[in-house]
Amino acid sequence: MANILVYALHYEGAINKNSLGAVSEAARLAGEIGGEAHAVVVGEGISDDVAAGLGAFGATKVFKAEAPEGLSQPVVDVMGKLFETGDYQYAIFGGGLLGFEVGAGLAARLNAGVTMEVTAVNVDGGQLVAERPILGDSSISTSRYKDRGIIIGRLNAFEARESGGSATVETLDVQLSSHAQQATMVQRGEQRGADVDIEGADVLVAGGRGLGKAEGFQLCEDLAGAFGGNSAVAATRAVVDAGWYPYAAQIGQTGKTVAPKLYLAAGISGAIQHKVGMQSSENIVAINKDANAPIFEFSDLGIVGDLNKILPKLTEAVKARKG
Ligand SMILES: Cc1cc2nc3c(=O)[nH]c(=O)nc-3n(C[C@H](O)[C@H](O)[C@H](O)COP(=O)(O)OP(=O)(O)OC[C@H]3O[C@@H](n4cnc5c(N)ncnc54)[C@H](O)[C@@H]3O)c2cc1C
Repeated sequence: MANILVYALHYEGAINKNSLGAVSEAARLAGEIGGEAHAVVVGEGISDDVAAGLGAFGATKVFKAEAPEGLSQPVVDVMGKLFETGDYQYAIFGGGLLGFEVGAGLAARLNAGVTMEVTAVNVDGGQLVAERPILGDSSISTSRYKDRGIIIGRLNAFEARESGGSATVETLDVQLSSHAQQATMVQRGEQRGADVDIEGADVLVAGGRGLGKAEGFQLCEDLAGAFGGNSAVAATRAVVDAGWYPYAAQIGQTGKTVAPKLYLAAGISGAIQHKVGMQSSENIVAINKDANAPIFEFSDLGIVGDLNKILPKLTEAVKARKG
C-alpha cells in the first residue's frame, strides 16, 4: 500500500491554509492509488485538537512531533524517520518557503525525485504524476517518479476541502540529528504588511510601477478602503523589488496566485509573470496610460489614462455610491 505523507505547517495554534489544501489533495490522491493520507505536525506544544482537526480535511492519521518550529532540518528528520518506518511512497507540501526547504532536504535524504511549483497532480497507472508550469508558464512539464516522489505545490494550487473525516493522533519521539540542532529560532521577523490577505480578498486594487513612487500606493489604499469589506491592495514584482510595497502583496509567478471577484490593475503593464497570478480573476479592470499595454489584452474593461487622475475620481465615485 502506498501512503502519502503531508507536512502541515503550524503556527500559533492554527494550521496554514496551504497545508490544509495539501492534506485535501493527498486524501483525494491516496483514495485513487489505494492508500491513506497521513499528516505530520512539528512544533512546540501542539494540541491534540489542532492535530486531530486535519482529519476533517482527509488525513486518517496525524503524527505530532515536539521539535523547534519554523526550522527545516528538524522537519526533515521527522519526515525522514516516518519514511524509514512507514509505508510511504510520496510526500506532498503545500508550498511556501519552508515547504520548499523541507521538501528539498527530504528529497536529498531519501534520494527521491522532487518537483516544485506543482499546480496539478494526477494518477496514471496507480502512480502520481505531477504537473509543473515552465517557460514563464507557457508550457507544462510532467514529472513521474521512479520510486519515491516529493511534490511541492505552488501556493494555493491545492484547494482545502472539508470532508468531515476524523484522524487518530500519534505522538512521535524523534531523536534529532546533531546538525538539525545547530540552528535555533532567535526571533520571528514580521514583514511590514505581511498580514495582508490578498488571497482571500474579494476586491484587489493592484499597483505597479506606473504609480511612480512608494507613496503612490496611497491611491490604491484609498480605493480599497472605499470598497471596504473584503478588499486589499496588491502589487507587481517590479514595485516589490523597488521596496515600494511588501512581498506579501506580490502577485505572479514568484508571488501569490489570486482569483478575486474584481481585480483592478493601476499602472501595471501585464507581463506574463504577473498575468499567471491573476488571470483567473472574475473581472479584470485595468488603468494604463499606454493604449498598447499588454494588460488590455486580458482585461474585461480597459481605461486608457493617467491613474493619478482616474484613481481619486474612482475612489470618490465608489464612496458616493456606497453613501
Ligand atoms: C523569473 C521572473 C519572475 C517574475 N515574477 C513576477 C511576479 O511574480 N510578479 C510580477 O508582477 N512580475 C514578475 N516578474 C517581472 C515581470 O516580468 C515584469 O517586469 C513586472 O511584472 C512589471 O511590473 P509593472 O507592470 O509594475 O511595471 P512595468 O512593466 O514597468 O509597467 C508599468 C506600467 O505603468 C504604466 N504607467 C506609467 N505611468 C502611468 C500613469 N501615470 N497612469 C497609468 N499608467 C501608467 C505604463 O504604461 C506601464 O504599462 C518576473 C520576472 C521574471 C524574469
